[in-house]
Amino acid sequence: MNTKLNAVKGMNDLLPAQSASWEWFEAQVRALMHAYGYRNIRTPIVEPTALFVRGIGEVTDIVEKEMYSFTDALNGEPLTLRPENTAAVVRAAIEHNLLYDGGKRLWYTGPMFRHERPQRGRYRQFHQVGAEALGFAGPDVDAELILMARRLWRMLGLRDVRLELNCLGQPDERQRHRAKLIAYFERHLEQLDDDARRRLHSNPLRILDSKNPALQPLIEGAPSLLDELGAESREHFDGVRALLRAAGLDFRVNPRLVRGLDYYNLTVFEWVTDRLGAQGTVCAGGRYDGLIAQIGGKPAPACGWALGVERVLELLGQDDALPPPRAPDVYLVLAHAPALERAFELAEELRAAGCSVLQHVGGGSLKSQMKKADASGARHALIFGADEWAAGEVALKALRDTQGAAAQQQRVPLQPVGELLRLLGIGAA
Ligand code: ATP
Ligand code: MG
Repeated sequence: MNTKLNAVKGMNDLLPAQSASWEWFEAQVRALMHAYGYRNIRTPIVEPTALFVRGIGEVTDIVEKEMYSFTDALNGEPLTLRPENTAAVVRAAIEHNLLYDGGKRLWYTGPMFRHERPQRGRYRQFHQVGAEALGFAGPDVDAELILMARRLWRMLGLRDVRLELNCLGQPDERQRHRAKLIAYFERHLEQLDDDARRRLHSNPLRILDSKNPALQPLIEGAPSLLDELGAESREHFDGVRALLRAAGLDFRVNPRLVRGLDYYNLTVFEWVTDRLGAQGTVCAGGRYDGLIAQIGGKPAPACGWALGVERVLELLGQDDALPPPRAPDVYLVLAHAPALERAFELAEELRAAGCSVLQHVGGGSLKSQMKKADASGARHALIFGADEWAAGEVALKALRDTQGAAAQQQRVPLQPVGELLRLLGIGAA
């Protein structure tokens, strides 16, 4: 028996009804990146497993249990479907020596893969847009990246996302904090869950990121990393905050914001919403000054963020803020078979002039073709009928805004097409 083949669980097909929103979203993203001088980078979807183990950190959700890893059947190389793209962008920057003449501002978009329990806003193949500024050390670039995200929300008309901000300091400050954290959690060992106990000595900071509600009171009382910050870290954090305030951006300092990846230092942030349940983080990022050296490059500072495309579109969908799918300008009806070749030619002329033309194929009566024209959403039908054809003309009928003169069907000369383009509202050919 043939079993039905379906998509892999947690991996979604994007059908035309949705992909229109995705195309619109991607166009906004491209405009945003251009507005800030960020340039696109495209890296492979598969990378050596070691890149993520080294880049993301061994004791993280991603590396411990979420990666799609396999060995290349041909040469035995350990490979992984990318669960995120920062490590790969850094790998590419090192491999191609991109930083040789100074800092680089880069952006990417594409699918990421994590073996998680699928639910709304959490999939096994999902999509991110990310921006990475490599080679810049100051709080100015942190602020730039954050304000860039705000601009995107504005361009999209996305409401109700707010910024949470924290400073993770530098490794020595984290080390001091780590010792205090371990001591604190050891005093409350009986309250920890299995995950937290396992992480207590390997990565206690991550306990602060736990989503277990039972742990929240304990986490609230934990020693704050902010108390361990030295003068330089403080100055950096103050710099970011001052720039955000000057730009009129409200934010909340959340000392328990630690992020799920190991590589962050100093600034970390999340854009969050209350409208996606437990999947409330729409965009997350921060500074990762140690990562480039960790992956084998010449030490250089870096900062970036990644947003979840599905989550952003889900929010926009809730607000009815997604644009309708784009309909063709013209549906071309062929009610007189001898006109077929000229119909093809006209369709090409109109397209060359920037018009979207859906040409009827497969024959059928005038009535059934007009039904299809209507259902297509096109603004106009262009009809090749026997009478018009004999007179060297074509009939133009408005299908939508059926008010005033445009409502009537009118006959227009086939040659030259200028008059037709004018009636269609298309600029001179
Ligand atoms: P979460 O805490 O929700 O698991 P994360 O900290 O693992 O998120 P990041 O690795 O920082 O997420 O990825 C950046 C963004 O990518 C997230 O804020 C979210 O919007 C999106 N994202 C992460 N994992 C998924 C997923 N499995 N499905 C859909 N979107 C995701
Ligand atoms: Mg996660």
